[in-house]
Amino acid sequence: MVKQAYDYDLLVIGAGAAGSTAASTAAQNGMRVALVERDKIGGTCLNYGCDPTKTMIHVAGLLYHARHADRFGLRFSEAKVDWTSVLSWVHQVQLRIRGGTSEEAAAQLSHKGIHVLPGEATFVSPHELTIAGKTISADRIIVATGSQEVIPPIEGLNEAGFMTNVEAISLPTLPNRLAVVGGGAIVRCGERAEEQLVVDEILLAIGRQPSLASLHLEKAGVKTSKKGIEVDATLRTNVPHIWAAGDVTGGLQFTHVAYEQGKLAAHNAFAQEPQPFDGRVIPWVTFSDPALAHVGKTEEQLRQEKVEYRATRMYFKDVERAIAEGATAGLVKLLVDKQGRILGGHILAPRAGDMLAPIILAMHAGISAETVASTIMPYPTMIESVRWAADQ
Ligand SMILES: Cc1cc2nc3c(=O)[nH]c(=O)nc-3n(C[C@H](O)[C@H](O)[C@H](O)COP(=O)(O)OP(=O)(O)OC[C@H]3O[C@@H](n4cnc5c(N)ncnc54)[C@H](O)[C@@H]3O)c2cc1C
Repeated sequence: MVKQAYDYDLLVIGAGAAGSTAASTAAQNGMRVALVERDKIGGTCLNYGCDPTKTMIHVAGLLYHARHADRFGLRFSEAKVDWTSVLSWVHQVQLRIRGGTSEEAAAQLSHKGIHVLPGEATFVSPHELTIAGKTISADRIIVATGSQEVIPPIEGLNEAGFMTNVEAISLPTLPNRLAVVGGGAIVRCGERAEEQLVVDEILLAIGRQPSLASLHLEKAGVKTSKKGIEVDATLRTNVPHIWAAGDVTGGLQFTHVAYEQGKLAAHNAFAQEPQPFDGRVIPWVTFSDPALAHVGKTEEQLRQEKVEYRATRMYFKDVERAIAEGATAGLVKLLVDKQGRILGGHILAPRAGDMLAPIILAMHAGISAETVASTIMPYPTMIESVRWAADQ
């Protein structure tokens, strides 16, 4: 514990991946911690992002496989969607991951010594914020307010009506015709001439911006840029007692990054020797069909950086398990330098994100391609493909 002059040793704003992890880390170290959240515990990922969307992708995959099972000799009567039950399943998944409703999760956090303060946090001075009409002070502060959808200034958009990921994950009925504005995760596309489309719903997905508006950071003197809150390598802002973590810092917008940064910010806020964030090996998955996963450098980056490398490939058309499952599209590609170090790994396959694990570990721990190539993997599995790619 630090100075008692403040209500809390640490106040964390935002209960998403970054903020929740930061609060837990500090509470475990005996600090008096408050966690402020204006919406639901779990932030974007659990409530409107990663978890509901991957649950829906899984359900959509089941439907697809049921409808195409005849190629494997299976005959089902028509597979249909009961949308209300699908939404109920998504909700159950969210409750399970959160550990109950938002209120129940808040109660569990308070058992861990974290005071959850519902409401929107607004700075009134460098050490003070108003939350639900009360002024709360803290010795140190971590801002983890995440990001929100960009709404583009398109003429007629408001009149036509639109939804974002927030509404999309709980639509009461499935639209027959949907226009998606924004193609960030599109991996296959064809050229289309300009044309008019008549649709039932418009989904905006053109990108995200840091959630800063309600914070009044100027009252604390915290510097921001267009990307978000400016932080140094240790996640400290220009104001020495304020740190920031997760999407709000404008870095890679992933839950695994937010989690790690939240943990580090809480550690650094009380550390004698703050540590820099190590962002060298960060995996990236596009949950398309098949999924695209990568970590480290791309060939284009290595060519630009004039780094000598060799690219090794193993195609799933030659992998026994992939043949058995009829999932032969895609490949594993490794980029290896002269010393045998893996500089990048790329996988296109169903569940490519899961299969990336040995490559992430090898890169993180400095394990050579040769060692990966001599590691016995179980047969017949998709993961063998990583070994065979390393063996070339
Ligand atoms: C549709 C979608 C799918 C995604 N899928 C994936 C995926 O599969 N894998 C992955 O790694 N990432 C995914 N992401 C990204 C991931 O959700 C974010 O990177 C992650 O949630 C960032 O965590 P965070 O803690 O920084 O912010 P958030 O999770 O956004 O949490 C910030 C919290 O702060 C609260 N808040 C904001 N301002 C205030 C204030 N002034 N006072 C009080 N509370 C405030 C918000 O209500 C929110 O709960 C996805 C995102 C979207 C939109």
